[in-house]
Amino acid sequence: MSEREMGFVVELSSDVKNKQRMTAEFKKFIAGLEEGKFLATKCASCGKKFMPPRFTCPCGGKDLEWFEVNPEGTLYTWSIVHFAPDGIAKQVNVPYPLGVIELEDGLKLAAHLKGLTTKPKVGMKVKVVPQELDNGNMAYFIKPA
Ligand SMILES: [Zn+2]
Repeated sequence: MSEREMGFVVELSSDVKNKQRMTAEFKKFIAGLEEGKFLATKCASCGKKFMPPRFTCPCGGKDLEWFEVNPEGTLYTWSIVHFAPDGIAKQVNVPYPLGVIELEDGLKLAAHLKGLTTKPKVGMKVKVVPQELDNGNMAYFIKPA
């Protein structure tokens, strides 16, 4: 399987497509990806952080501040996807690895895990990388750091 065929993001491929149309705020997150930055939000009331960003907090807070997240972290967990959702199945052949990266402050992000030369190992150093999809949407994937 080529790098290109594997190049997409599990979590965002369906989600972002809708959100890209839905909110101007989310466009800031997408614009960050286009610049190679991962932007998250932090609730001014309780301090909870969100990645991907949210714009309201479960505490009721609506004042969320942007901050940039270091894209390097560790592999929190991983799995193999055998049945991909429709939107993803068009872009990648199953089975493929799905990883969850733990970033700074305990932020976690699920995405396609690619570029592996060995079996994934929990705790290994990984990083999340933005990528533009063939359809022009932005996404991201996880690869060894
Ligand atoms: Zn809050």
